[in-house]
Amino acid sequence: MFDQLNELPVVSLNMKQAEMRDVGVHLLRLDQINQRVSGNKWFKLKYNLEKAKVQGGKAVLSFGGAYSNHIHALAWAGQVLGIKTIGIIRGESDYASNPTLTDAARWGMELHFVTRAEYKQRKDADFLQGLRDRFGDPFIVPEGGSNALAVKGTAEIVNQSLIQKYGIDNIVLACGTGGTLAGVAASQPSVNIVGIPVLKGAKFLKDDISMLLESAGYSDVNNWVLDYNGHFGGYAKTSPELLAFISMMDDDYDLPLDQIYTGKMMLRLIELIEEGFFTEGSQILALHTGGLQGLRSL
Ligand SMILES: *Cc1c(COP(=O)(O)O)cnc(C)c1O
Repeated sequence: MFDQLNELPVVSLNMKQAEMRDVGVHLLRLDQINQRVSGNKWFKLKYNLEKAKVQGGKAVLSFGGAYSNHIHALAWAGQVLGIKTIGIIRGESDYASNPTLTDAARWGMELHFVTRAEYKQRKDADFLQGLRDRFGDPFIVPEGGSNALAVKGTAEIVNQSLIQKYGIDNIVLACGTGGTLAGVAASQPSVNIVGIPVLKGAKFLKDDISMLLESAGYSDVNNWVLDYNGHFGGYAKTSPELLAFISMMDDDYDLPLDQIYTGKMMLRLIELIEEGFFTEGSQILALHTGGLQGLRSL
């Protein structure tokens, strides 16, 4: 399944803000990988699922919110590869009827709903051991899929020929857990990477990303920065400005963006261009990391 990647399209956007500052903006459409597993989650799961398969086809267990792109991608990949999947979902079982979890259940994922307090323990050793005992020693993938194997996968998102073809010197992407940024930064050491956290108060991410890089054998990678001004109110919060921007991008550029990640990244990118963050002549590759499945719930 992981070999059957469509060639990922790149679109160059003619935006007046970019022209005024003489920078180029190119968008890598990871949302078009595949109709079902869209975006960066595909790359994050790739080596995790291969490992689960090698370990005798163990079930794969992971965590997510009720609209999680990660849970959605994992459920589908599990079905295609014939691997059993278990989703530990934050919130009440009423959510089971939303489009994200309806798909996940249809693709064979076993859903277990936990309280917010239980969900908070998702990294605790005792809690994880309890899950191992209860579900027959599954292969556990952390929330959002971010671990060393995810970094190995996300290092394959951007390749050298793409960088050369467009003369890319900056890559901009939205960050949740930072696993995608870690892989992209590691794979492109001569490019400047700008991550836009979509969570408010995400200063912890800097250490998280350093630790992820270290765990994947890239402790000397430091070609990346985080810009903390692109959360627009916090995770999953929206504003009239953001919504208007997303609908403008759809109308004017035929570009679908989601409200949680890619809409915020693009809006903040344009602000950064206007603020003169990028030097004249810069060629910027923005990553459309997907996430459009979550829009169906709105
Ligand atoms: C999960 C996700 C991200 C964030 O990826 P991280 O590796 O957790 O930083 C960005 N965009 C979309 C659409 C996502 O689903």
